[in-house]
Amino acid sequence: MQVIAGVLVYVSLDMSFDAITLSLLSDALKSLEAGFPLPELATSLDRDRMQAILNETAQRLHENFPYHHPLYLGQMLKPPHPLARLAYSLAMQLNPNNHALDGGRASSIMEKEAVAQIAHMFGWKTHLGHLTSGGTFANLEALWVSRESHPGKAVVASAQSHYTHSRISAVLGIPFRKIAADALGRMDVAALEAELKRGDVGTVVVTLGTTAAGTVDPLPAILSLQKQYGFRIHVDAAYGGYYILASNLDTPARAAYDALDQVDSIVIDPHKHGLQPYGCGCVLFRDPGVGKFYRHDSPYTYFTSDEMHLGEISLECSRPGASAVALWATMKLLPLERGGEFAKSLEACREAALLLEKHLRQTKQFVPILHPELDIVVWAVRAGTASESSVKARQYFEAAARQDIHLALASFPRKMVEPCGAIEHWDVESVTCLRSCLMKPEHREWMGEIWGRMERAAVSG
Ligand SMILES: *Cc1c(COP(=O)(O)O)cnc(C)c1O
Repeated sequence: MQVIAGVLVYVSLDMSFDAITLSLLSDALKSLEAGFPLPELATSLDRDRMQAILNETAQRLHENFPYHHPLYLGQMLKPPHPLARLAYSLAMQLNPNNHALDGGRASSIMEKEAVAQIAHMFGWKTHLGHLTSGGTFANLEALWVSRESHPGKAVVASAQSHYTHSRISAVLGIPFRKIAADALGRMDVAALEAELKRGDVGTVVVTLGTTAAGTVDPLPAILSLQKQYGFRIHVDAAYGGYYILASNLDTPARAAYDALDQVDSIVIDPHKHGLQPYGCGCVLFRDPGVGKFYRHDSPYTYFTSDEMHLGEISLECSRPGASAVALWATMKLLPLERGGEFAKSLEACREAALLLEKHLRQTKQFVPILHPELDIVVWAVRAGTASESSVKARQYFEAAARQDIHLALASFPRKMVEPCGAIEHWDVESVTCLRSCLMKPEHREWMGEIWGRMERAAVSG
């Protein structure tokens, strides 16, 4: 990581560690303190030991890849905005619990405001929703509501959907079936209709931005089938949800996002593209009436109010108020507006993906398997056989790491890779490809540097 440390000097403010921004916290801490005119607390902290342990902790953290840096373009990782980190730290002085109003008075209201802005981004006029620990739990709540509203009915999702749906369905005791994905990695609408004809489908999970390849299911066609067959539509937009704000999507993806105002529930992860620390997912229901399923009779009484409070509409009890505070502050700085700074940063991510795709297409060695719909690029290594291509992908992954370029690997079925023509003979039915999530807007400006290193990795092996 020493190499990276040298490079960091040239990085924009937003990309450095918090040494520069931490000073903003001292003013805010004073301002927070002023709100609590209480007798002073005696503290007896061993500052020297704390310093020593913190320094040791920093050493241990060297074992990470440089997730915060544009040369890391592997897994779905994006640094939280410095403001999110600061607001989170500020809230940690009180460590509010958004389980109920008693434990998180201010932060619960901030959560409701933040969630309402997300619902508004999707064009919803009504909603019920809250933050969760992440996309997994948010999806669990959405499928639980599906089970309660459509008892005994099955959940279906595409073969490219996140594996969490089959696992959650097993936990909830819901029958789950996979729908084939087409060569473009999108749910195959004809295969879906064949399943619907069986008559027992209660919910279709539609993924807007699959985790492996960033593909977008054809929501408009699925909505047409809904008119005929009648089922719930749950959209898993954990990764791709914010892309509704981007102005540079291709027509099929744009049409899918534009139809989001008609679905029943949506999951989006502020801790993926929303610049938040981990522990911040969000589930939204368009019909606030689903709140009835959450009813419980806890012996612990909370504030009574006409409106259901967050503890009454979440399956998780204790939840970090600091997450809500960080999200609220970030959205104050970067509102969820089309044409706004946040939207532009997403557009830059997609542009970075298109640049990488272009570079890859100019090589003899690599072939992108798909044209990126969002900001994920997946490519195969040209080879005589599928297994040889997989071996070469793993070798290139290692060679790139030696150039401080951190990529990811993912396995794809023959159906999605065959059309790109990278493989001559199919000795196995799936192939390991290289995968890159270009989730940092800085990737666009860094693409020259990134590609230079990727070319060196290709030559040096
Ligand atoms: C990341 C992801 C999930 C799981 O969310 P976590 O926040 O990791 O729990 C579910 N679905 C999709 C499409 C995802 O990208």
